[in-house]
Order: sequence, then C-alpha cells, then structure tokens
Amino acid sequence: MSDLFGGLMKGLSGFMPQDDPDVKLMMAGSEVSDLQKQEAELYAQIGRQTLAEGCVQYPELENKLRLVQENLSAAQAKLQSVQSEKEAKEAAQRAEDEKSICPSCGNVNPDGVKFCRECGAKLGAVLCSRCGAPLPPSTRFCGECGKKQEEQHGFI
Ligand SMILES: [Zn+2]
Ligand SMILES: [Zn+2]
Repeated sequence: MSDLFGGLMKGLSGFMPQDDPDVKLMMAGSEVSDLQKQEAELYAQIGRQTLAEGCVQYPELENKLRLVQENLSAAQAKLQSVQSEKEAKEAAQRAEDEKSICPSCGNVNPDGVKFCRECGAKLGAVLCSRCGAPLPPSTRFCGECGKKQEEQHGFI
C-alpha cells in the first residue's frame, strides 16, 4: 500500500516544474491534505467495523493508519521547509531588488549592474551625506571625511 502513495506523488510531480516554489508549496500542501483525508477515512473505516463487528482489533487497518500518519507528519515537515525556502527566496529577491536601486539618485537599474546607469554611483552602498563618498551599508562614520552617518536608505 505504501508504494501506492509514493507512486502517486511521483507521478504527479513528474510533469510539473520542480524548482518553482509555488508549485512545490502546492504539491506539499496537496500531499498533506491527501494524507489527512486518508487518515480520516481510515478512522471512519475502523469506526464502522468496530460498530458492525463489536471488535476493536484491526491490525491491518491500524498499520495502514500508522503508515498514513507517518507519511502525514513527513509531508507536514516538508510543507514547512518548502514554506521557509519560499520565504528565504523572496527575501533574497527583495535584497536583490534593493541592490539595483541607486542610493544616490533613486534610479532603478537592471539586475547585475554595479554602478548606477543614471549617475554612476556605486550600487549596494550608501553615499556620505557630506562628501558623497560611497559607503558600505551600515557604515557609521564616513572613511573619507569622518562624518557621522544617519539612516539614509531609500531617499534621494
Ligand atoms: Zn544614480
Ligand atoms: Zn564623507
């Protein structure tokens, strides 16, 4: 029986792009809800048989249930890791986007450029508010003129 679930998931995932976080999230989510359904069905089956036969020992059903529950907690763990992977990717993407915004003139540059195409300022760095020297992010004092730097992200 266990091969059935694995095979089903493999079959489903075979024709979907695996590196898309949304697809991964959807896959992991549907795996969890599938297993939850199977778990509920097994509980119902055990309940029905218990009522019909007055017996509470169904090793086969109980084994199935245990297996489904194991798969379920694995699927839930996977769902969580996919979720945090997606969040990490989005955070990295945001950082990447911010890197291409010129700290000096606010021009939005294409990805991968190191200097602003509008004013030539170095990207990924803030500029000294007194002398205009490029400063690495979170610099507190300008290395050129010694001016104390205030928070100056994002404005022109
Ligand atoms: Zn610029
Ligand atoms: Zn300076």
